[in-house]
Amino acid sequence: MDISLVIPLLNEEESIPELSEWIDKVMNENNFTYEIIFIDDGSTDNSLDVIKEQAKKNNNIKALSFRRNYGKSAALNEGFSISKGNVVVTMDADLQDDPGEIPEMYKMITEQAYDIVSGWKKKRHDPITKTIPTKFYNWTTRRISKIKLHDFNCGLKAYKSDVIKSIDIYGEMHRYIPVIAKWNGFTKIGEKVVKHRARKYGKTKFGIKRFIRGPLDLLSITFVSKFSQRPMHFFGSFGLLSFFIGFIISLWLIGQKFYSRWFNISITKRDIIDQPLFFIALVLVIVGVFLFMSGFLGELIIKNDKHKNIYPQKDKVNID
Ligand code: UDP
Ligand code: MG
Repeated sequence: MDISLVIPLLNEEESIPELSEWIDKVMNENNFTYEIIFIDDGSTDNSLDVIKEQAKKNNNIKALSFRRNYGKSAALNEGFSISKGNVVVTMDADLQDDPGEIPEMYKMITEQAYDIVSGWKKKRHDPITKTIPTKFYNWTTRRISKIKLHDFNCGLKAYKSDVIKSIDIYGEMHRYIPVIAKWNGFTKIGEKVVKHRARKYGKTKFGIKRFIRGPLDLLSITFVSKFSQRPMHFFGSFGLLSFFIGFIISLWLIGQKFYSRWFNISITKRDIIDQPLFFIALVLVIVGVFLFMSGFLGELIIKNDKHKNIYPQKDKVNID
């Protein structure tokens, strides 16, 4: 199969028929074999029924349904796991992305050997409250990841299937798939300017929360990707450093005490427990031991936690 389209959706009943027909038209014009995987992310409207209705007309349509809302990343993740195409394309269900861009993206992957082709909504049709924070967010992500993309969060992206099979996302991590992929060794990441349209039906599903959760997830993926396989390197090195400094200060204090006793001269009149240095040394030693222990526990956890199942609540949808 040439292309899998993975489409997460939450309450997009009005858009689905138009979107399915549009995709079908583009795919047929280009003679692609394809599948559309809709992932209903706990919709409370009739989205699931609308999908089933469409699937009767077009047997390239498949679907998964979450019993409750798990978020776009979880939806994408499940879609990825059942996709069969050589190239996997993700897009939003709200008709803001143009399926007409897909053939070109497909070519970039199959002929120019890109691992990922990300859409770039150069001319956006979104309110200003969204475009300005987005600029800042893209700039930060570019700095941290050193990937030269203008628009990390574009819903329309195409992947070589190996790429998506190698990643595991949840929370708001869909924004950082190129970053995760790069850390997994897929470095040929390209960009294509894509048409963007204003939302036709319904309204955006991400409120102000996206600006809080997004950066937090960037922090955790940075941390996880760098240290999750070797927590001792992170905690242990800080732990040792802290312990060592505390230890040296303690030695100094003890030495001072003995010295003044021995020669019967007082370097300082204060008792050891009256000196701030003593408390600093104490804290450094204790914190050092704790950090070291955290690293050690981290190592034990990853040894036991190789196969975790994060979304046990997924249902297969039978379309008859
Ligand atoms: N979406 C989803 N689960 C969620 C939130 C959003 O599956 O919890 C889907 C939504 O239905 C749409 C896509 O993710 O297909 C992008 O969402 P939206 O258009 O609201 O985001 P925006 O374009 O405003 O960034
Ligand atoms: Mg949208």
